[in-house]
Amino acid sequence: MASNLPHERSGCFSGLLPGSRRQRGSQHVPSQGENAPPPPQGSSVEKFFPGAFPEYVRIASSCDFGSAQRENALPPAYSWAASEADHLSDAMMRTIEDALRELDPELRRLSLDIHGHPELCFEERYAHDRLTEFMSSRGFTVTRHYLGLSTAWCAEFTRGAGGRTVGVNAEMDALPGIGHGCGHNLIAMAGVGVALALRTALERHDVPGTVILLGTPAEETGAGKQILLERGAYEDMDVCIMCHPVSGDTLELGFVSSLALQSLSVEYFGQPAHAGYAPWDGVNALDAAFVAYAGISALRQQIRPEHRVHGVISGRDWTPNVIPDYAKMSWSVRADARDALEPLRERVVRCLEAGASATGCRHEIALGDRYLDLRQNPVLAEDMAVMAQRCYDIPSYRTQMPSPASTDFGNVSYALPALHPTFTIPTPDGAKNHTPGFAIGARTEAAHAAAVRTAALLARTGLRVLADGAFCARVRAAYEGNTAAGPGGATGEVKPKARGRFTTGSGLFF
Ligand SMILES: [Zn+2]
Ligand SMILES: [Zn+2]
Repeated sequence: MASNLPHERSGCFSGLLPGSRRQRGSQHVPSQGENAPPPPQGSSVEKFFPGAFPEYVRIASSCDFGSAQRENALPPAYSWAASEADHLSDAMMRTIEDALRELDPELRRLSLDIHGHPELCFEERYAHDRLTEFMSSRGFTVTRHYLGLSTAWCAEFTRGAGGRTVGVNAEMDALPGIGHGCGHNLIAMAGVGVALALRTALERHDVPGTVILLGTPAEETGAGKQILLERGAYEDMDVCIMCHPVSGDTLELGFVSSLALQSLSVEYFGQPAHAGYAPWDGVNALDAAFVAYAGISALRQQIRPEHRVHGVISGRDWTPNVIPDYAKMSWSVRADARDALEPLRERVVRCLEAGASATGCRHEIALGDRYLDLRQNPVLAEDMAVMAQRCYDIPSYRTQMPSPASTDFGNVSYALPALHPTFTIPTPDGAKNHTPGFAIGARTEAAHAAAVRTAALLARTGLRVLADGAFCARVRAAYEGNTAAGPGGATGEVKPKARGRFTTGSGLFF
C-alpha cells in the first residue's frame, strides 16, 4: 500500500526543531555503520547520565523556561515559586526514579523489540500484542483492539476512588522502507514507563487516581488519535501526555506547537486518444494535473512562510503515445492554526478546479484526514520544564514559530489539556526524523536513556495532576483560556474529521 508511493513524510515531529546549544554530558553518537545494538545490561540511564538519575539533585530554585540565548524564547506563562516546586516531595520523585530504574532493562528490551518489528499505520499487530501482554503482566486492566480499531489498545489502573485521571499515549507505527525512523519505539516504551511509574507512585504514596495508557495506531498517516477521540477514548481523562524524540547532541526538551494539516486529493477524468494520430479527440487528465500544479506553485509564493502546500501526481497506464485519461494528485495543506487552514485549503481547491476548467476534464475532490495544530498546555509545560532544570539540569525551550510538522496529538490537545514535549537523541551525522539515520539513533542506548529520563519527568508532571488539585485547576484554566482565545480557538470541541472518500492506507503521509 503506502510503501509503493513517493511521499512527503512529515507527519509527526521532524528534526526541524533546534538542536542542543550547550556542550554538556556527551551522549554516544552512533555511526551509520553501527548495526546491532548491545544487549540490555543494567540501567542505560545511569550509564549515560552517571550519578544524577539515582540521586535527585536540586540544581536551581528558579527556571527561565529555556536558554536565555535561544531566539524567540517566550517568557514563562506563569511565575514559579519555590514552594510550589516543593509541592511534590522528593520522595515521590524518587519513587518514580526507582520504578524506572527497576524497569529499565525490560523497557530496553521492549523498545528494541518494537524497533525490530516495524509496522505501518493500522498494522501495528506485533506492537499491539507485545505491549498489551506487557501491561497485562504488570497488573493493568487491558482492553485489546480498543474501540473497534484492531491495533489500538487501552491499559488502565485505578488506585482508590474519586481521583483524577491522567492519560498517556503510546505511538507505535513506523515508516515504509525506513522502519522506526521517527522513533515511535521510544514513544511506546516511554509511555509504558510513565504509566508504570505513575502506578507505583499512586500505590506507594496512597494517592487516588487513574492512569490510562492508550496504544494509539497510525500517527504517521491515518490520524488514529482522531478516530479514538471520536469514539470516546479520551473522555475520562483530565489531561493527556506523551513525548516524542527529535535529533540533537545533548538532551533538551522542546515545548513547541506544530502545524495543522488537511490532506486532500483530486482525480481528473478525461478522454483517451492517439497522441499522434488524433490528439484533438483527447481530453488530457495529465494536463489538468499540471495546470493545477502550476497554479499551486504560483500560489506558494503568496502564502505565509509558516504555511506549507505539497503534493504528488500519480497516473494510471500512462504511456507517451496515448493521451492520459486519468490523473490523481494528493496534497497536504498546512497552516499554523486550525482557522487558518480552511482559507488556505480553499485557495488550493481553486487551483485544482482550474486544472479541470482549463482542460475540460471532470474532477472529483476528496478531503482526507485533518490534523490540528498542537496546543501545549502552558502549566503542564512549565511544570515539566522547571523540574527538568532543577532535577537534571536539562534545558527546555519553546519557540514562537511552530514546528513545520504535524501530529494527530494536536487533535487531542484541542479536546483536553495536553502536553507533548520533544526530547533530543543523538543520531548519526545529526540525521533528522524520517531518515534511516534517525532509525539507527532510535535504537541506541543513549536514545533509550534520554527517553527514560524524559519519561521520569513526564510521570512526575502527571503525578502532580493526580496529587495536586489546585495545580490541576490551573491546568484546566489554562486550557480553557487557550482554546477560547487563541488563533483557531474553540472551546475544546473537536469536530469529526472530513474523511471524504479517502480510505486509510491511501498513501498519504503526514
Ligand atoms: Zn514521524
Ligand atoms: Zn513521530
